[in-house]
Amino acid sequence: PTSPVRVAVTGAAGQIGYQLLFRIASGGMLGPDQPVILQMLEIPPAMDALKGVVMELDDCAFPLLAGTVQSDDPNVAFKDADYALLVGSRPRGPGMERSDLLEANGAIFTVQGKALNDHASPDVKVLVVGNPANTNCLIAMNNAPDIPDEQFTAMTRLDHNRAMSQLAAKTGASVNDIKKMTIWGNHSATQYPDLFHCEVDGKNAAAQVDDQTWLEDDFIPTVQKRGAAIIAARGASSAASAASAALDHMRDWALGTPDGDWVSMAVPSDGSYGVPEGLLSSFPCTTADGKWSIVQGLDIDDFSRGRIDATVAELAEERDTVKDLGLI
Ligand code: NDP
Repeated sequence: PTSPVRVAVTGAAGQIGYQLLFRIASGGMLGPDQPVILQMLEIPPAMDALKGVVMELDDCAFPLLAGTVQSDDPNVAFKDADYALLVGSRPRGPGMERSDLLEANGAIFTVQGKALNDHASPDVKVLVVGNPANTNCLIAMNNAPDIPDEQFTAMTRLDHNRAMSQLAAKTGASVNDIKKMTIWGNHSATQYPDLFHCEVDGKNAAAQVDDQTWLEDDFIPTVQKRGAAIIAARGASSAASAASAALDHMRDWALGTPDGDWVSMAVPSDGSYGVPEGLLSSFPCTTADGKWSIVQGLDIDDFSRGRIDATVAELAEERDTVKDLGLI
């Protein structure tokens, strides 16, 4: 039998956590043959709620669930973790400036970066979901000097999946026929979903749609603002789809992307496509043997260049803010 891997989840009693844990425990992340130990972190006021979640996990009698750990101490929750999904973060409160938000989250992600550094498996794969995800990830990465930077990633897979579903609806294709979707930049309203390298049924998506007005006035803003549209419709933020995307991200990172396709992941830039080195930016990535690589050699036209530059400028600003705050 395969020995279990340790999967740490922060914010485990929250909305996304509630959608995520049960699917990890039933094999939805690493497949039907990989037992998992769930190591759940919460803040002290949420520990009772977490206890209830663990009671429900127990009651599912999942064959693959080899153990659970509940803690409000990151040093305990991250102990020997092979995977860490950092979901918990400080939401933006009324009247909070962006810099206040970055500072509040800085306090969380500096501590968690150090705890990962000191206690996680040296091979830990980290995914940051909690917003502002790219910059929270940058903070954690910079506070974990012994863990290679390429083990830190942030989630743009939900944006990627949203873009797939919008394009499928527009073209009448199935999402199975769409390949090579790309989200560039920040997981924020400046993100750039790119159809110029995307394929529907093997043919260029932008050429097939051939409707720049739809692209600029409909597709791009719909993907960028989908989170707000879901809050308006559901009265609560997207949680099941965010959890589903987190599983997709981790599964593809661990198990590899198929030939002829790629995924979107926010990863530390190596300078590709003019994105300054070290910024945690979303790129088209392939994965194999547990490692990601940025897809190289794509032609970027003026329209895409402008969009990529704008979202990357926002990332650089966020980086400068957390640098000034002494968080990195
Ligand atoms: P959710 O589980 O709904 O969301 C958690 C985080 O994911 C938020 O930062 C949210 O960002 C972010 N997120 C990223 N992408 C998406 C998306 N597409 N849709 C929705 N959210 C997205 O929040 P809850 O408040 O229900 O749960 C958070 C939990 O985290 C609480 O239980 C809290 O106690 C815990 N927490 C734990 C910490 C820890 O373990 N140390 C630290 C801080 C909090 P956004 O805010 O922009 O919606």
